[in-house]
Order: sequence, then structure tokens, then C-alpha cells
Amino acid sequence: MPATIPLLIQGLRPLRAKVRRRLQFQLPPRGDPWDALRRELDQWHLAGRTADFWWRDDDATEPTAPVQRLLALRRSVGIPLALSVIPATATGELRTLIQAQHAPRALSVLQHGYSHQNHAKYRRHMTELGTDRSLATICDELAAGQQLLQHWPGWQPVLVPPFSHIAPRLTRRLAALGYTGLSIFGGRRDMPDLPGISRANIHIDILAWDAPEPRFVGAELSLTAAIAHLCAKRQGRADPGEATGFMTHCWAHNQAAWDFCTEFLTRTNAHAAAQWVSTPTALANTS
Ligand SMILES: [Zn+2]
Repeated sequence: MPATIPLLIQGLRPLRAKVRRRLQFQLPPRGDPWDALRRELDQWHLAGRTADFWWRDDDATEPTAPVQRLLALRRSVGIPLALSVIPATATGELRTLIQAQHAPRALSVLQHGYSHQNHAKYRRHMTELGTDRSLATICDELAAGQQLLQHWPGWQPVLVPPFSHIAPRLTRRLAALGYTGLSIFGGRRDMPDLPGISRANIHIDILAWDAPEPRFVGAELSLTAAIAHLCAKRQGRADPGEATGFMTHCWAHNQAAWDFCTEFLTRTNAHAAAQWVSTPTALANTS
């Protein structure tokens, strides 16, 4: 290679970089998922409708730093929150912290199974409320869990099955066990009616659970789930009266997950067509 060629290539490098920068600048920007969410809510506004949202955080047992941060976030955004508490390991200190919030309407306590242990023997899906133990044993545990939580401030007789799984034989017993609500993942129109049981379900999970440790899936996927449910409600493909359920697990949040929660709660709460409702309201709203 002649000695002048490398010098020529060197001389072209700044130009190439400049062209690349210009091309990138001219490329159409990728769709902004926040903008897509705003546009979806704008559609609700144009139709004169209000989209309900509902927030549930799972696995609380102690007043850990993440739980305190969660409650501080709830206060700062002024949005109702349902704390899904594990009865067997819940501490009096957590109850004291909840009491100190002075927000029984805006801070609900739900029952997250009994001890959040996996009892699945053969199936891959983890479950505490499956068919691997006798129904009587599970019912006794749930009743014991209710006894532990029923005098907590904000208590709602709503069962949140750990691992988002509950066997149908148990759902048919919930009303007799004293529950008035059930909260699992998915659209409530796709689930069989349970006499005496209302549903406040989850449609947005900001964490992925396939890795050894849960990880934040990112804003784009989280917002895609939110927009998908809002759009399905608006177009009548999902129960239009159902609050869009936003699930968090504060103990597993990294900084990006916290940032997303703050932005999602703040932006939606500021939109004229969106409202965050309490657990009793989410349970009462039917279409
Ligand atoms: Zn859980």
C-alpha cells in the first residue's frame, strides 16, 4: 500500500464521522413511548372518558428502606397505593409505619397469601395456593393470615395470590373464607365470575422474573403494557370499567425502576383523562 493511502484514510475519518452524525440526525427518531402513552390518553380525553389506574406493591413484611421510599413516593405524588403484605412474616414495625401514614383510604393493606412459600411439587409454575396441598390446609393458613392482618389500618379483605397463581378450587371458596376481592394478573373479563368476589387486577409488571434476580424491563416495555390495556379498554376489547393495574416490587427496584415509577405516576396523574383510584374504588368499579 502506498504511504499516502493511510494518510488519506486518516484524513477521511473526521468527514465520515461528520456524515454519520448528519445521517443519524436526519433519521426519523424512534417512537417515544411516553408520547404514545400521552396520545392514548388524549384519545380518552377526546371521547370524554376517564381511564382509571390502580397501584399495588407486593411482598411487604418490614419497614425496610425500599418500603419507606415507596411510601414517600406515594405521598409525594399523592396517589393511592395497595400494599400487599405477607401475613406470616409481617412485623409490628411495618404496621406502625403504615399507621403513621394517616392515610387509611389512600393506603390499603391486602393479604399476600400466607407465608409466600412455593409448595409446587411437580409443576414448574411456583404456587402457594395450588393443588399440591390439601384445600383444608390452605384455607386454614389463609384464615390465620386474615386474623393477623384484619386489624391493620387500611385492611381490605382482598387476596393477592403469591406468584400470581391460585387454583380454581380455592377461588370458589374465597367468599366463604371472608374475602370480598381477588387480585391477580390479567383482564378480569377473561376470568370466570366469582359470586361475592370483586377483582382489581394487574396489567403492568415492570419487572422480568426469568433471571435469577428480578430486573426492570425498561420504560418501553412497561409503557407498551400500559398502552395495550388502555387501548383494549377504550376499544371495548377489555372491561372498560376495570382500572389498569400497575404492579411494583419495591424491594427489587434499581434506580431506573424508581425513576420510571416516579415518571409514570406523575405523568399519568397530570393527564386530564387519567385518575388513580383507591382499592375500594377499583373493586367497586364495574362496567
Ligand atoms: Zn409476592
